[in-house]
Formats: sequence, structure tokens, C-alpha cells
Amino acid sequence: MVTLYQPQRFTRLPDAILFDTDNTLYPYAPAHAAAQLAVREKVMLTLSLSGEDFDRAFQEARHQIKVRLKYTASSHNRLLYLQRMLEIMGLGSQVLLALDFEQTYWRTFLSNATLFDEVKELLDDIRMLAIPTTIVTDLTAQIQFRKVVYFGLDHYFDYIVTSEEAGFDKCHAAPFHIALEKMHPQGDCIWMIGDNPINDIREARREINAVTLQKIHEDTPLGTGESAPDAAFKHFGELRRLLVRLREHT
Ligand SMILES: [Mg+2]
Repeated sequence: MVTLYQPQRFTRLPDAILFDTDNTLYPYAPAHAAAQLAVREKVMLTLSLSGEDFDRAFQEARHQIKVRLKYTASSHNRLLYLQRMLEIMGLGSQVLLALDFEQTYWRTFLSNATLFDEVKELLDDIRMLAIPTTIVTDLTAQIQFRKVVYFGLDHYFDYIVTSEEAGFDKCHAAPFHIALEKMHPQGDCIWMIGDNPINDIREARREINAVTLQKIHEDTPLGTGESAPDAAFKHFGELRRLLVRLREHT
């Protein structure tokens, strides 16, 4: 069952629902681990390097990009990490290799990513209730669109907002406000469903007074204090039953 920490915020059906994507609709860790390993092996083979050489240069590259581009979609861009890694290795930018390694990452990532159980069923229920939905996600449009299509979710959501489009990650008001501008919800009961206690929970409540529901699984601790969600759940089936209950009361 969904745990309601603020039951007074769950007295009726929502007017709109915002969804995070990564680690909310599918588990991120196994897909990322497989993809990173595939890139590591390809880099080792292509450049005759040790795994440790790869790890060191990649971590340094990622760190430099994150420091320079903080809170923007580009700060998560694999292509920039790989380009910078090649530069740190003393090889120049090597654009063809960077593109090739990036393709390896995302191809492997997607083939190892699986939606959580009952995500599509929940989205069907929401559509039957005529509640508008939007994906609000950090990262660049190109890969986030590809993920949505890969999962077969492109017809389930009314809108998508990426941090590339918004100019800022979800630690900023812009993605949430752009989502509401697109949706024109009929009322002010907006649900935000996500795994991250800071970006999805604290910020959505602070910026748009969202009713926040945290998807809990192994690597996502329940938010506390300012990041405490209004509700938390482990399985999407629990959310489906909550919607049934709220519909009966409306
Ligand atoms: Mg997430």
C-alpha cells in the first residue's frame, strides 16, 4: 500500500501528474552498470589501455564537465565526458571515437533497461481518468526522447520537459513551471512522482506546491525533513489502488 505521510493532501484525484523518468519508471543502476562496462571494454580494446587508466581518465573527465556545467542538461552528457576523457588521455578530441563510445553506452544501456512492473497499466488507468501527464526529466532531449520511444511510452504522456529545453535541471523552478504552462491543468492538485528526494520531492513542492510521491527502491532512501515526500510507494500497483480509492471518494 502507498504510505501516506500527509493524508490530508490525498482527498481527491489529481488534476495533473508529473513523472520523473530515470530510476522512477525503470531501474537505472543495472542499465548504467552494463553500459559503463561495455564502454570500458571498448576503450581498453581500442586504445590498448588498462581498465584503471580508463577509470581514472573517465572519472576526471566527468568531474570536470560537472564542475563547469553544473545544474544543466549538458552536465549529464556522456558525449562530453567521453570527449574530455580522450583529451585527458592526450589523444585530442577524437570526435569519431567519442561518438562511437557514446553509441555503445546508450545502445547497451537501453538493451539493459526494463520498465518497472505495472507502469503501463498505471498510465492506462490515468488515461481512463482523463488526467493529463508530463515527463519532467533532467538530461538532453535526444536521449530522453529515445528512452521514451524505446519503452513504448511515447503515446502515454501528453508532454515532456527536459532540462535541456528548460535550461536548468530540476533543482530549479523552470522545468516544473514549463510543465504546468504546457498542461494548463484544471485545478491546483498536481502530483509529482519521482525517486530523487531533492530534485523530485523537495523542489516540486517548493516550486509548484506539488503533492509529492516518492518511488522507493534499493538505492533511493526515503527523503527526510524538507525532502520528505507526502507519500511513498515501492510498486506501481500500489499507486493504481490509491487512484481507485480516490476515484470512489470523488
Ligand atoms: Mg530519477
